[in-house]
Amino acid sequence: MFGRSKPDVQLKTPEQIARMRAAGQVVARTLDTLRAATRPGVSTLELDAIAEKSIRDAGAVPSFKGYHGFPASICASVNEEVVHGIPSRERVLAEGDLLSIDCGAVLEGWHGDSAITLPVGEGRPEDLEMLRTCEEAMWQGIAQLRPGRTLGDIGHAIGGYISRNGDYGNVREYGGHGIGTEMHMDPHVLNHGRRGKGLRLMEGMCLAIEPMTTLGGHEVHQLDDGWTVVTRDGARAAHVEHSVAITAEGPLVLTAREENRDKITQMGFVQPTW
Ligand code: MG
Ligand code: MG
Repeated sequence: MFGRSKPDVQLKTPEQIARMRAAGQVVARTLDTLRAATRPGVSTLELDAIAEKSIRDAGAVPSFKGYHGFPASICASVNEEVVHGIPSRERVLAEGDLLSIDCGAVLEGWHGDSAITLPVGEGRPEDLEMLRTCEEAMWQGIAQLRPGRTLGDIGHAIGGYISRNGDYGNVREYGGHGIGTEMHMDPHVLNHGRRGKGLRLMEGMCLAIEPMTTLGGHEVHQLDDGWTVVTRDGARAAHVEHSVAITAEGPLVLTAREENRDKITQMGFVQPTW
């Protein structure tokens, strides 16, 4: 069914990429809805309910729910939580919080996976600057998604951008991944690396690109709940993610949201069918 560059990397046909774009749009629209619903006084469990309804109303299934026992449809990670935060009734968002929402959906067997970080209310200037750096690092990584580039080129672009643009931690324990008929597939995509090293990228590969930055050090650890990953020093963190297909014409952002339209044009990426 699939052509293969290496035993473990799934290559997609243009028709399959179109189906992944449909799954990606479900995630994109859900994140738009969640952004609009985020405000002081809302609990992360309420956001989770909104996400699950949005995904199921689109005829898709929330891929996080039940994944290795994860109990919810989104990861909601607040402030010093980096990734994999569990939505809860008790976690009521407050003015000045920094919220990361990670969301995945599967539609007709194809997965989409994307994350945003957003301030609750106005946002602190230092948080917003770190978030801007994290987002731009993601775009610089996505720009490497062309046939002939390598995994090392992606990590080099992301890690280099972060280190050149402030004294931010670049979380190393987690990274991006292949995506397709499963949410997490080979290869693992590091957010640091050396130019020209590693697996050579090919048309038809689909990768999730997801840098994580902090206002302090890069070290993280997992809480006793078995999921939530927090910074060791308690510094606030940001995490953003897009699922992207490598095409002959360049990167196609499968989980693109309307707010990304200008950036995609500016970067010279393939324009998704909006
Ligand atoms: Mg994700
Ligand atoms: Mg991911």
